[in-house]
Amino acid sequence: MATSAPPRSQAKPAPCCKDWYYTRTLRADKSWEYVTELAAIHHDPVVISRSEHGISRANISRNALKVLYRLNKAGYAAYLVGGGVRDLSLGREPKDFDVATDARPEQVKQLFRNCRLIGRRFRLAHVYFGCEIIEVATFRALQEAGEAGEQARVLEDGRLLRDNVFGTIEEDALRRDFTVNALYYHIADFTLVDYVGGMADLRRGVLRLIGDAEVRYREDPVRMLRAVRFAVKLGFRMHPETAGAIPRMAHLLGHIPPARLFDETLKLFATGMGLEAFECLRHYGLFGYLFPATEAVLLDDEFGAALGFLAGALANTDRRVAEGKSVTPAFLFAALLWPSIAQRLTAAEPHAAGSIQEIHKAASEVLQDQARCVTIPKRFSMPMREIWSLQPRFERRTGKRALRLLSHPRFRAAYDFLLLRAEAGEVEAELARWWTQLQLTSGEQRTEMAGRRRRSGNRRGRHKGSDTV
Ligand code: ATP
Ligand code: MG
Repeated sequence: MATSAPPRSQAKPAPCCKDWYYTRTLRADKSWEYVTELAAIHHDPVVISRSEHGISRANISRNALKVLYRLNKAGYAAYLVGGGVRDLSLGREPKDFDVATDARPEQVKQLFRNCRLIGRRFRLAHVYFGCEIIEVATFRALQEAGEAGEQARVLEDGRLLRDNVFGTIEEDALRRDFTVNALYYHIADFTLVDYVGGMADLRRGVLRLIGDAEVRYREDPVRMLRAVRFAVKLGFRMHPETAGAIPRMAHLLGHIPPARLFDETLKLFATGMGLEAFECLRHYGLFGYLFPATEAVLLDDEFGAALGFLAGALANTDRRVAEGKSVTPAFLFAALLWPSIAQRLTAAEPHAAGSIQEIHKAASEVLQDQARCVTIPKRFSMPMREIWSLQPRFERRTGKRALRLLSHPRFRAAYDFLLLRAEAGEVEAELARWWTQLQLTSGEQRTEMAGRRRRSGNRRGRHKGSDTV
Protein backbone atom coordinates (compact mmCIF):
# COMPACT_ATOMS: atom_id res chain seq x y z
CA MET A 1 0.00 0.00 0.00
CA ALA A 2 1.30 3.47 -0.83
CA THR A 3 2.12 5.51 2.21
CA SER A 4 1.38 9.03 1.08
CA ALA A 5 -0.87 10.60 -1.45
CA PRO A 6 -0.85 14.36 -1.48
CA PRO A 7 -4.01 15.39 -3.27
CA ARG A 8 -3.70 17.47 -6.41
CA SER A 9 -6.09 20.01 -5.05
CA GLN A 10 -5.49 20.42 -1.37
CA ALA A 11 -7.36 23.71 -1.18
CA LYS A 12 -10.74 21.99 -0.88
CA PRO A 13 -11.56 20.15 2.31
CA ALA A 14 -12.47 16.48 2.14
CA PRO A 15 -16.23 16.35 1.73
CA CYS A 16 -18.21 15.91 4.90
CA CYS A 17 -20.58 13.21 3.79
CA LYS A 18 -23.63 13.77 5.93
CA ASP A 19 -24.37 17.42 5.27
CA TRP A 20 -23.35 17.47 1.68
CA TYR A 21 -25.18 14.76 -0.05
CA TYR A 22 -28.27 13.56 1.74
CA THR A 23 -31.25 15.13 3.32
CA ARG A 24 -34.18 13.90 5.33
CA THR A 25 -37.19 16.14 5.23
CA LEU A 26 -40.09 16.24 7.60
CA ARG A 27 -43.30 16.02 5.62
CA ALA A 28 -46.55 17.79 6.46
CA ASP A 29 -47.90 14.59 8.00
CA LYS A 30 -44.84 14.58 10.30
CA SER A 31 -43.30 11.48 8.76
CA TRP A 32 -39.76 11.58 7.59
CA GLU A 33 -39.25 11.53 3.88
CA TYR A 34 -36.01 9.88 3.06
CA VAL A 35 -34.73 11.39 -0.10
CA THR A 36 -31.28 11.41 -1.45
CA GLU A 37 -30.45 14.77 -2.87
CA LEU A 38 -27.40 16.01 -4.53
CA ALA A 39 -26.60 19.03 -2.44
CA ALA A 40 -23.12 20.22 -3.18
CA ILE A 41 -20.80 17.84 -4.83
CA HIS A 42 -19.09 20.04 -7.33
CA HIS A 43 -15.74 19.90 -5.68
CA ASP A 44 -12.49 18.66 -7.13
CA PRO A 45 -11.60 15.09 -6.45
CA VAL A 46 -8.38 14.04 -4.86
CA VAL A 47 -6.24 12.65 -7.67
CA ILE A 48 -3.52 10.24 -6.61
CA SER A 49 -0.73 9.84 -9.09
CA ARG A 50 0.55 6.55 -10.43
CA SER A 51 3.70 6.66 -8.32
CA GLU A 52 1.69 7.16 -5.14
CA HIS A 53 -1.11 4.65 -5.21
CA GLY A 54 0.77 1.40 -5.66
CA ILE A 55 -1.67 -0.20 -8.13
CA SER A 56 0.16 -1.99 -10.88
CA ARG A 57 -1.44 -3.07 -14.13
CA ALA A 58 0.40 -6.35 -13.71
CA ASN A 59 -2.10 -7.21 -10.95
CA ILE A 60 -5.19 -6.28 -12.94
CA SER A 61 -6.93 -9.01 -14.90
CA ARG A 62 -5.90 -8.95 -18.57
CA ASN A 63 -9.54 -9.10 -19.56
CA ALA A 64 -10.45 -6.11 -17.40
CA LEU A 65 -7.57 -4.20 -19.01
CA LYS A 66 -8.87 -5.16 -22.46
CA VAL A 67 -12.28 -3.76 -21.62
CA LEU A 68 -10.82 -0.57 -20.17
CA TYR A 69 -8.53 0.03 -23.15
CA ARG A 70 -11.23 -0.59 -25.72
CA LEU A 71 -13.68 1.77 -24.01
CA ASN A 72 -10.97 4.37 -23.73
CA LYS A 73 -9.96 3.98 -27.37
CA ALA A 74 -13.57 4.43 -28.41
CA GLY A 75 -13.57 7.80 -26.66
CA TYR A 76 -15.39 6.84 -23.46
CA ALA A 77 -14.27 7.39 -19.89
CA ALA A 78 -13.11 4.08 -18.45
CA TYR A 79 -12.28 3.35 -14.82
CA LEU A 80 -11.67 0.32 -12.70
CA VAL A 81 -13.75 0.71 -9.55
CA GLY A 82 -15.09 -1.03 -6.47
CA GLY A 83 -13.57 -3.99 -4.71
CA GLY A 84 -10.89 -4.47 -7.39
CA VAL A 85 -9.32 -1.07 -6.69
CA ARG A 86 -9.84 -1.39 -2.94
CA ASP A 87 -8.20 -4.81 -2.74
CA LEU A 88 -5.31 -3.94 -5.06
CA SER A 89 -4.60 -0.83 -2.98
CA LEU A 90 -4.41 -3.04 0.09
CA GLY A 91 -2.13 -5.53 -1.65
CA ARG A 92 -4.89 -8.16 -1.67
CA GLU A 93 -6.06 -10.27 -4.55
CA PRO A 94 -9.39 -8.95 -5.87
CA LYS A 95 -12.32 -11.31 -6.22
CA ASP A 96 -13.49 -9.65 -9.41
CA PHE A 97 -12.99 -6.52 -11.47
CA ASP A 98 -15.69 -3.95 -12.08
CA VAL A 99 -15.52 -1.24 -14.70
CA ALA A 100 -17.35 2.12 -14.66
CA THR A 101 -17.80 4.21 -17.78
CA ASP A 102 -19.80 7.04 -19.32
CA ALA A 103 -20.77 4.74 -22.21
CA ARG A 104 -24.43 3.63 -22.06
CA PRO A 105 -25.07 -0.10 -21.77
CA GLU A 106 -26.07 -0.27 -25.46
CA GLN A 107 -22.88 1.51 -26.46
CA VAL A 108 -20.84 -0.98 -24.42
CA LYS A 109 -22.65 -3.81 -26.18
CA GLN A 110 -21.70 -2.37 -29.56
CA LEU A 111 -18.04 -2.46 -28.61
CA PHE A 112 -17.95 -6.07 -27.41
CA ARG A 113 -19.31 -9.05 -29.27
CA ASN A 114 -19.05 -11.13 -26.08
CA CYS A 115 -21.36 -8.81 -24.15
CA ARG A 116 -24.79 -9.26 -22.62
CA LEU A 117 -26.96 -6.64 -20.95
CA ILE A 118 -28.47 -7.73 -17.66
CA GLY A 119 -30.40 -6.47 -14.68
CA ARG A 120 -33.53 -4.51 -14.02
CA ARG A 121 -32.63 -2.79 -10.80
CA PHE A 122 -29.23 -1.91 -12.24
CA ARG A 123 -28.86 -2.23 -15.98
CA LEU A 124 -25.36 -3.54 -16.54
CA ALA A 125 -23.19 -4.91 -19.32
CA HIS A 126 -21.44 -8.21 -18.74
CA VAL A 127 -18.46 -8.87 -20.97
CA TYR A 128 -17.60 -12.56 -21.12
CA PHE A 129 -14.10 -13.99 -21.40
CA GLY A 130 -14.49 -17.71 -20.86
CA CYS A 131 -15.41 -18.06 -17.21
CA GLU A 132 -14.35 -14.52 -16.31
CA ILE A 133 -17.02 -11.86 -16.49
CA ILE A 134 -16.11 -8.19 -16.45
CA GLU A 135 -19.01 -6.11 -15.21
CA VAL A 136 -19.32 -2.75 -16.92
CA ALA A 137 -21.63 -0.20 -15.30
CA THR A 138 -22.58 3.20 -16.67
CA PHE A 139 -22.10 6.09 -14.22
CA ARG A 140 -25.31 6.59 -12.29
CA ALA A 141 -26.93 9.69 -10.91
CA LEU A 142 -28.39 10.30 -7.49
CA GLN A 143 -31.34 12.55 -8.38
CA GLU A 144 -34.89 11.52 -8.79
CA ALA A 145 -35.51 11.38 -12.49
CA GLY A 146 -38.91 12.97 -12.70
CA GLU A 147 -40.63 11.71 -15.81
CA ALA A 148 -38.08 9.08 -16.70
CA GLY A 149 -40.58 6.28 -16.01
CA GLU A 150 -39.03 2.78 -16.02
CA GLN A 151 -35.59 4.30 -16.18
CA ALA A 152 -36.09 6.25 -13.00
CA ARG A 153 -34.62 5.89 -9.58
CA VAL A 154 -37.52 4.72 -7.47
CA LEU A 155 -37.80 5.11 -3.74
CA GLU A 156 -40.44 3.37 -1.68
CA ASP A 157 -40.30 4.22 2.01
CA GLY A 158 -36.79 5.35 1.28
CA ARG A 159 -35.87 2.04 -0.37
CA LEU A 160 -34.19 2.11 -3.72
CA LEU A 161 -36.07 -0.10 -6.15
CA ARG A 162 -34.55 0.92 -9.45
CA ASP A 163 -31.56 3.04 -10.06
CA ASN A 164 -31.13 3.53 -13.75
CA VAL A 165 -30.57 7.24 -14.05
CA PHE A 166 -27.27 7.85 -15.71
CA GLY A 167 -25.03 10.55 -14.33
CA THR A 168 -21.52 11.86 -13.93
CA ILE A 169 -18.58 10.14 -12.30
CA GLU A 170 -18.98 12.35 -9.19
CA GLU A 171 -22.57 11.26 -8.83
CA ASP A 172 -21.59 7.68 -9.45
CA ALA A 173 -19.04 7.89 -6.63
CA LEU A 174 -21.60 9.26 -4.19
CA ARG A 175 -24.19 6.57 -4.78
CA ARG A 176 -21.70 3.81 -3.96
CA ASP A 177 -21.83 2.26 -0.52
CA PHE A 178 -18.53 2.75 1.31
CA THR A 179 -15.81 5.32 0.77
CA VAL A 180 -13.21 2.58 0.22
CA ASN A 181 -15.41 1.13 -2.54
CA ALA A 182 -15.59 4.41 -4.43
CA LEU A 183 -12.03 4.77 -5.70
CA TYR A 184 -11.62 5.05 -9.49
CA TYR A 185 -8.53 3.84 -11.31
CA HIS A 186 -8.33 5.86 -14.53
CA ILE A 187 -7.01 3.84 -17.44
CA ALA A 188 -6.19 7.00 -19.44
CA ASP A 189 -3.43 8.16 -17.08
CA PHE A 190 -3.25 5.44 -14.40
CA THR A 191 -4.25 7.83 -11.63
CA LEU A 192 -6.61 7.05 -8.77
CA VAL A 193 -9.55 9.43 -8.43
CA ASP A 194 -11.15 9.86 -5.02
CA TYR A 195 -14.32 11.92 -4.48
CA VAL A 196 -15.22 10.75 -0.99
CA GLY A 197 -12.07 10.44 1.10
CA GLY A 198 -11.80 6.74 0.36
CA MET A 199 -8.01 6.64 0.28
CA ALA A 200 -7.72 8.24 3.72
CA ASP A 201 -10.17 5.67 5.13
CA LEU A 202 -8.33 2.85 3.38
CA ARG A 203 -5.10 3.93 5.02
CA ARG A 204 -6.69 4.27 8.43
CA GLY A 205 -8.56 0.98 8.09
CA VAL A 206 -11.96 2.59 8.45
CA LEU A 207 -15.15 1.39 6.81
CA ARG A 208 -17.45 4.35 6.34
CA LEU A 209 -20.74 4.64 4.52
CA ILE A 210 -20.93 7.51 2.08
CA GLY A 211 -23.61 9.91 3.26
CA ASP A 212 -26.11 9.64 6.07
CA ALA A 213 -25.98 6.11 7.45
CA GLU A 214 -29.72 5.84 8.14
CA VAL A 215 -30.66 7.08 4.69
CA ARG A 216 -28.22 4.77 2.99
CA TYR A 217 -29.32 1.70 4.96
CA ARG A 218 -32.94 2.56 4.31
CA GLU A 219 -32.24 2.84 0.58
CA ASP A 220 -30.70 -0.59 0.59
CA PRO A 221 -30.65 -2.57 3.86
CA VAL A 222 -28.26 -5.13 2.34
CA ARG A 223 -25.58 -2.50 2.89
CA MET A 224 -25.69 -3.52 6.58
CA LEU A 225 -24.63 -7.03 5.63
CA ARG A 226 -22.00 -5.64 3.30
CA ALA A 227 -20.71 -3.49 6.16
CA VAL A 228 -20.21 -6.59 8.28
CA ARG A 229 -18.66 -8.53 5.40
CA PHE A 230 -16.11 -5.86 4.51
CA ALA A 231 -15.27 -5.00 8.12
CA VAL A 232 -14.54 -8.67 8.77
CA LYS A 233 -12.83 -9.40 5.48
CA LEU A 234 -10.57 -6.34 5.52
CA GLY A 235 -10.10 -6.26 9.28
CA PHE A 236 -11.38 -2.65 9.23
CA ARG A 237 -13.26 -0.97 12.02
CA MET A 238 -16.59 0.54 11.17
CA HIS A 239 -16.95 4.28 11.48
CA PRO A 240 -19.15 5.01 14.54
CA GLU A 241 -22.04 6.31 12.40
CA THR A 242 -21.82 3.36 10.03
CA ALA A 243 -21.88 0.94 12.95
CA GLY A 244 -24.22 2.86 15.21
CA ALA A 245 -27.15 2.89 12.81
CA ILE A 246 -27.15 -0.88 12.20
CA PRO A 247 -29.00 -2.11 15.31
CA ARG A 248 -31.67 0.57 14.70
CA MET A 249 -32.09 -0.37 11.05
CA ALA A 250 -31.54 -4.15 11.20
CA HIS A 251 -35.27 -4.87 10.94
CA LEU A 252 -35.26 -3.45 7.40
CA LEU A 253 -33.65 -6.66 6.22
CA GLY A 254 -37.18 -8.04 6.40
CA HIS A 255 -37.98 -6.04 3.23
CA ILE A 256 -35.28 -7.66 1.14
CA PRO A 257 -36.23 -10.43 -1.28
CA PRO A 258 -35.14 -13.72 0.33
CA ALA A 259 -33.33 -14.81 -2.84
CA ARG A 260 -31.03 -11.78 -2.67
CA LEU A 261 -30.31 -12.53 0.97
CA PHE A 262 -29.22 -16.05 0.08
CA ASP A 263 -26.36 -14.68 -2.07
CA GLU A 264 -25.29 -12.24 0.61
CA THR A 265 -25.50 -14.83 3.36
CA LEU A 266 -23.35 -17.21 1.36
CA LYS A 267 -20.72 -14.51 0.85
CA LEU A 268 -20.75 -13.86 4.60
CA PHE A 269 -20.29 -17.46 5.64
CA ALA A 270 -18.50 -19.25 2.84
CA THR A 271 -15.55 -17.04 2.10
CA GLY A 272 -13.24 -17.91 4.95
CA MET A 273 -14.32 -15.52 7.73
CA GLY A 274 -17.59 -17.19 8.65
CA LEU A 275 -17.04 -17.41 12.39
CA GLU A 276 -16.10 -13.76 12.69
CA ALA A 277 -18.98 -12.75 10.44
CA PHE A 278 -21.36 -14.77 12.63
CA GLU A 279 -20.13 -13.03 15.77
CA CYS A 280 -20.30 -9.63 14.12
CA LEU A 281 -23.82 -10.25 12.74
CA ARG A 282 -25.02 -11.25 16.20
CA HIS A 283 -23.27 -8.28 17.78
CA TYR A 284 -25.20 -5.89 15.52
CA GLY A 285 -28.51 -7.72 15.83
CA LEU A 286 -28.53 -8.84 12.19
CA PHE A 287 -28.23 -12.60 12.52
CA GLY A 288 -31.79 -12.99 13.78
CA TYR A 289 -33.11 -11.46 10.56
CA LEU A 290 -31.27 -14.04 8.50
CA PHE A 291 -31.82 -17.10 10.73
CA PRO A 292 -34.65 -16.32 13.14
CA ALA A 293 -35.19 -19.91 14.29
CA THR A 294 -31.48 -20.42 15.00
CA GLU A 295 -31.30 -17.09 16.82
CA ALA A 296 -34.26 -18.13 18.97
CA VAL A 297 -32.40 -21.30 20.02
CA LEU A 298 -29.23 -19.31 20.70
CA LEU A 299 -31.11 -16.89 22.94
CA ASP A 300 -32.29 -19.80 25.05
CA ASP A 301 -29.06 -21.79 24.88
CA GLU A 302 -28.48 -22.27 28.58
CA PHE A 303 -25.45 -24.53 28.30
CA GLY A 304 -24.04 -23.02 25.12
CA ALA A 305 -24.51 -26.25 23.16
CA ALA A 306 -25.98 -24.63 20.05
CA LEU A 307 -23.37 -21.87 20.12
CA GLY A 308 -20.60 -24.44 20.49
CA PHE A 309 -21.90 -26.43 17.57
CA LEU A 310 -22.22 -23.40 15.29
CA ALA A 311 -18.82 -22.01 16.27
CA GLY A 312 -17.25 -25.40 15.52
CA ALA A 313 -19.04 -25.71 12.18
CA LEU A 314 -18.05 -22.22 11.06
CA ALA A 315 -14.46 -22.57 12.24
CA ASN A 316 -14.28 -25.84 10.34
CA THR A 317 -15.64 -24.15 7.18
CA ASP A 318 -13.14 -21.31 7.53
CA ARG A 319 -10.33 -23.85 7.88
CA ARG A 320 -11.46 -25.59 4.71
CA VAL A 321 -11.48 -22.31 2.79
CA ALA A 322 -8.00 -21.49 4.11
CA GLU A 323 -6.78 -24.88 2.90
CA GLY A 324 -8.28 -24.28 -0.55
CA LYS A 325 -10.88 -27.01 -0.09
CA SER A 326 -14.40 -26.67 -1.40
CA VAL A 327 -17.24 -25.57 0.82
CA THR A 328 -20.71 -26.73 -0.07
CA PRO A 329 -23.55 -24.34 0.69
CA ALA A 330 -25.71 -27.35 1.61
CA PHE A 331 -23.37 -28.36 4.44
CA LEU A 332 -23.04 -24.80 5.66
CA PHE A 333 -26.79 -24.14 5.71
CA ALA A 334 -27.44 -27.57 7.21
CA ALA A 335 -25.19 -26.51 10.09
CA LEU A 336 -26.67 -23.02 10.42
CA LEU A 337 -30.18 -24.46 10.78
CA TRP A 338 -29.30 -27.58 12.77
CA PRO A 339 -29.83 -26.09 16.26
CA SER A 340 -33.46 -25.59 15.40
CA ILE A 341 -33.83 -29.11 13.94
CA ALA A 342 -32.09 -30.61 16.97
CA GLN A 343 -34.34 -28.67 19.32
CA ARG A 344 -37.47 -29.98 17.57
CA LEU A 345 -36.16 -33.55 17.71
CA THR A 346 -35.42 -33.23 21.40
CA ALA A 347 -38.90 -31.89 22.00
CA ALA A 348 -40.52 -34.75 20.03
CA GLU A 349 -42.23 -37.67 21.73
CA PRO A 350 -39.53 -40.15 22.87
CA HIS A 351 -40.82 -42.88 20.57
CA ALA A 352 -40.74 -40.52 17.58
CA ALA A 353 -37.34 -38.86 18.10
CA GLY A 354 -35.03 -40.06 15.35
CA SER A 355 -37.83 -41.42 13.23
CA ILE A 356 -37.83 -40.52 9.58
CA GLN A 357 -41.22 -38.88 9.89
CA GLU A 358 -40.05 -36.70 12.73
CA ILE A 359 -36.91 -35.58 10.91
CA HIS A 360 -38.81 -34.84 7.71
CA LYS A 361 -41.39 -32.92 9.66
CA ALA A 362 -38.74 -30.86 11.46
CA ALA A 363 -36.85 -30.26 8.19
CA SER A 364 -39.98 -29.12 6.36
CA GLU A 365 -41.01 -26.76 9.15
CA VAL A 366 -37.55 -25.26 9.53
CA LEU A 367 -36.99 -24.86 5.78
CA GLN A 368 -40.41 -23.34 5.29
CA ASP A 369 -39.84 -20.80 8.06
CA GLN A 370 -36.41 -20.05 6.75
CA ALA A 371 -37.70 -19.42 3.22
CA ARG A 372 -39.47 -16.30 4.52
CA CYS A 373 -36.10 -14.69 5.21
CA VAL A 374 -33.49 -16.40 3.07
CA THR A 375 -34.42 -18.63 0.16
CA ILE A 376 -32.29 -21.72 0.01
CA PRO A 377 -32.40 -23.11 -3.54
CA LYS A 378 -33.72 -26.65 -3.87
CA ARG A 379 -30.39 -27.93 -5.14
CA PHE A 380 -29.07 -27.16 -1.65
CA SER A 381 -32.11 -27.84 0.51
CA MET A 382 -32.41 -31.43 -0.79
CA PRO A 383 -28.91 -32.46 0.30
CA MET A 384 -29.46 -30.58 3.56
CA ARG A 385 -32.45 -32.77 4.30
CA GLU A 386 -30.33 -35.84 3.57
CA ILE A 387 -27.50 -34.70 5.84
CA TRP A 388 -30.00 -34.22 8.65
CA SER A 389 -31.94 -37.38 8.09
CA LEU A 390 -28.81 -39.55 8.03
CA GLN A 391 -27.82 -38.42 11.54
CA PRO A 392 -29.97 -40.92 13.47
CA ARG A 393 -28.73 -43.70 11.21
CA PHE A 394 -25.24 -43.29 12.67
CA GLU A 395 -26.65 -44.43 15.99
CA ARG A 396 -27.38 -47.86 14.53
CA ARG A 397 -24.10 -49.63 14.20
CA THR A 398 -25.22 -53.17 13.58
CA GLY A 399 -25.59 -55.36 10.56
CA LYS A 400 -26.00 -54.59 6.92
CA ARG A 401 -27.84 -51.33 7.54
CA ALA A 402 -24.72 -49.80 9.04
CA LEU A 403 -22.57 -51.05 6.18
CA ARG A 404 -25.06 -49.83 3.61
CA LEU A 405 -24.81 -46.33 5.06
CA LEU A 406 -21.17 -46.20 3.93
CA SER A 407 -22.23 -46.28 0.30
CA HIS A 408 -24.94 -43.66 0.65
CA PRO A 409 -24.14 -40.78 -1.78
CA ARG A 410 -24.42 -38.29 1.08
CA PHE A 411 -22.42 -40.39 3.58
CA ARG A 412 -19.31 -38.22 3.55
CA ALA A 413 -21.15 -34.96 4.23
CA ALA A 414 -23.35 -36.60 6.87
CA TYR A 415 -20.28 -38.16 8.54
CA ASP A 416 -18.47 -34.79 8.61
CA PHE A 417 -21.61 -33.39 10.18
CA LEU A 418 -21.56 -36.15 12.78
CA LEU A 419 -17.96 -35.21 13.63
CA LEU A 420 -19.05 -31.64 14.29
CA ARG A 421 -21.84 -32.87 16.54
CA ALA A 422 -19.38 -35.07 18.41
CA GLU A 423 -16.93 -32.18 18.81
CA ALA A 424 -19.74 -30.11 20.27
CA GLY A 425 -20.59 -32.90 22.70
CA GLU A 426 -23.97 -33.52 21.12
CA VAL A 427 -23.22 -37.20 20.52
CA GLU A 428 -20.67 -39.53 22.13
CA ALA A 429 -17.15 -39.06 20.77
CA GLU A 430 -16.96 -42.85 20.71
CA LEU A 431 -19.73 -42.99 18.11
CA ALA A 432 -17.81 -40.72 15.75
CA ARG A 433 -14.62 -42.72 16.39
CA TRP A 434 -16.42 -45.95 15.53
CA TRP A 435 -17.52 -44.58 12.15
CA THR A 436 -14.06 -43.24 11.47
CA GLN A 437 -12.62 -46.64 12.30
CA LEU A 438 -15.18 -48.43 10.16
CA GLN A 439 -14.07 -46.47 7.09
CA LEU A 440 -10.44 -47.39 7.75
CA THR A 441 -11.13 -51.10 7.81
CA SER A 442 -11.33 -53.46 4.87
CA GLY A 443 -14.36 -55.47 3.74
CA GLU A 444 -14.12 -58.43 6.13
CA GLN A 445 -13.11 -56.36 9.10
CA ARG A 446 -16.02 -54.08 8.42
CA THR A 447 -18.51 -56.91 8.59
CA GLU A 448 -16.78 -58.09 11.72
CA MET A 449 -17.09 -54.62 13.33
CA ALA A 450 -20.79 -54.38 12.62
CA GLY A 451 -21.32 -58.00 13.65
CA ARG A 452 -19.28 -57.60 16.82
CA ARG A 453 -21.60 -54.90 18.04
CA ARG A 454 -24.57 -57.13 17.38
CA ARG A 455 -22.99 -59.99 19.36
CA SER A 456 -21.94 -57.75 22.22
CA GLY A 457 -25.58 -56.84 22.64
CA ASN A 458 -25.29 -53.17 21.73
CA ARG A 459 -28.02 -53.36 19.21
CA ARG A 460 -30.61 -50.67 19.76
CA GLY A 461 -34.09 -51.95 19.36
CA ARG A 462 -36.30 -50.56 16.69
CA HIS A 463 -38.85 -48.23 18.24
CA LYS A 464 -42.29 -49.62 18.19
CA GLY A 465 -44.46 -47.91 15.65
CA SER A 466 -41.68 -45.79 14.20
CA ASP A 467 -40.19 -46.18 10.79
CA THR A 468 -36.60 -45.37 11.70
CA VAL A 469 -34.30 -43.90 9.09
P1 ATP B 1 -16.20 -8.00 -3.52
O1 ATP B 1 -16.38 -8.16 -5.02
O2 ATP B 1 -14.82 -8.18 -3.03
O3 ATP B 1 -17.21 -8.73 -2.74
P2 ATP B 1 -17.01 -5.31 -4.10
O4 ATP B 1 -16.86 -4.03 -3.30
O5 ATP B 1 -16.35 -5.31 -5.44
O6 ATP B 1 -16.51 -6.46 -3.18
P3 ATP B 1 -19.41 -5.87 -5.50
O7 ATP B 1 -20.66 -6.47 -5.01
O8 ATP B 1 -18.61 -6.57 -6.53
O9 ATP B 1 -18.54 -5.59 -4.23
O10 ATP B 1 -19.80 -4.42 -6.01
C1 ATP B 1 -18.92 -3.58 -6.76
C2 ATP B 1 -19.07 -2.14 -6.31
O11 ATP B 1 -20.40 -1.69 -6.55
C3 ATP B 1 -18.85 -1.90 -4.82
O12 ATP B 1 -17.49 -1.76 -4.52
C4 ATP B 1 -19.63 -0.63 -4.60
O13 ATP B 1 -18.90 0.49 -5.05
C5 ATP B 1 -20.83 -0.82 -5.52
N1 ATP B 1 -21.95 -1.45 -4.81
C6 ATP B 1 -22.24 -2.77 -4.76
N2 ATP B 1 -23.34 -3.00 -4.02
C7 ATP B 1 -23.77 -1.81 -3.61
C8 ATP B 1 -24.87 -1.35 -2.84
N3 ATP B 1 -25.74 -2.22 -2.32
N4 ATP B 1 -25.01 -0.03 -2.63
C9 ATP B 1 -24.14 0.86 -3.16
N5 ATP B 1 -23.08 0.51 -3.88
C10 ATP B 1 -22.89 -0.80 -4.12
MG1 MG C 1 -16.48 -6.85 -6.82
